[in-house]
Amino acid sequence: MYSIVAHGARDLRLEEGAIPDGPGPGEVAVALRIGGICGSDLHYFNHGGFGTVRLREPMVLGHEVAGTIAALGEGVAGLAPGQTVAVNPSRPCGACANCRRGRANLCTDMRFNGSAMRFPHVQGLFRESVVVPAAQAVPVEASPDLAALCEPFAVCLHAAARAGSLLGARVLVSGSGPIGCLTVLAARLAGAAEIVVTDIAEPPLAVARALGATATVNVAASPDGLDGRVFDAAFECSGNGQALLAALKVMRAGGRLVLVGLGGEVTLPIAGLVPSEIEIVGSFRFDGEFAMAADLISRGRVDPSPLITHTLPMRRAEEAFVLASDRAAAMKVQIALGA
Ligand SMILES: [Zn+2]
Ligand SMILES: [Zn+2]
Repeated sequence: MYSIVAHGARDLRLEEGAIPDGPGPGEVAVALRIGGICGSDLHYFNHGGFGTVRLREPMVLGHEVAGTIAALGEGVAGLAPGQTVAVNPSRPCGACANCRRGRANLCTDMRFNGSAMRFPHVQGLFRESVVVPAAQAVPVEASPDLAALCEPFAVCLHAAARAGSLLGARVLVSGSGPIGCLTVLAARLAGAAEIVVTDIAEPPLAVARALGATATVNVAASPDGLDGRVFDAAFECSGNGQALLAALKVMRAGGRLVLVGLGGEVTLPIAGLVPSEIEIVGSFRFDGEFAMAADLISRGRVDPSPLITHTLPMRRAEEAFVLASDRAAAMKVQIALGA
């Protein structure tokens, strides 16, 4: 069984390992088909980590995967061999203070596949097969490539929930990468009247329009492109400090800005924020939104397919990561696991 392992910055290896045992009681074996490359995978690949999170041992990358059920362990009900599932990479402890408060995405003892936040690292899912607790295998009635978008879409559904009601709202999304684009879908579902997306490159903005953005602004070509606009809610998905400051300038008083992108540091204009009561909130990962994403994709309530620009076989993993790092060339790059 092959897996895609990061040993450090720009050191990605396709490695052969033993087929996992099992499945044991309460577990399922999943033959993985598709894995989407996410921003965090790119940070491990390009820089060996992000912020204080560094690779300290080899780690299988990947947390956006889907496949088919290969075998059921004893006592597993509600799943069948051959069924398409998305694997939920999030395993909160269920016992810490945040879990008990219903904020499991903020679990202080989280096990998240393909994350170097804890040590030993929690290995990722860019591999040909995996055995997981049955609850992590979430059925999706869609092709595996769309099913593999459940994870990033769940991130965006959570961000939309953090914004509060978007019914009839004027929404700004800064950063038109995969997360920005899936946030467009989430905001549409939540009833936003207007969704304006900004970026510094044209190709991602074309995808945002295909997914339902009502307008797009290339802020590199038109730095004043947002002048005169006012927004009820904003999603900062670029992780760029200047984009955050630009968004603050066009928020209405009392509006809410949701930080989704992980970025650098900026100086905030406190004297403007206090009298305008603009709220700035973070949004991190997801909880119940994973099942919601699977349901919405299964029902065809959203069509995220324009987001997938490339699918490469596993043996071309390095090329896939280089391609995914080039924002002008690619949006969501997926790897055909097992191919
Ligand atoms: Zn992701
Ligand atoms: Zn917990």
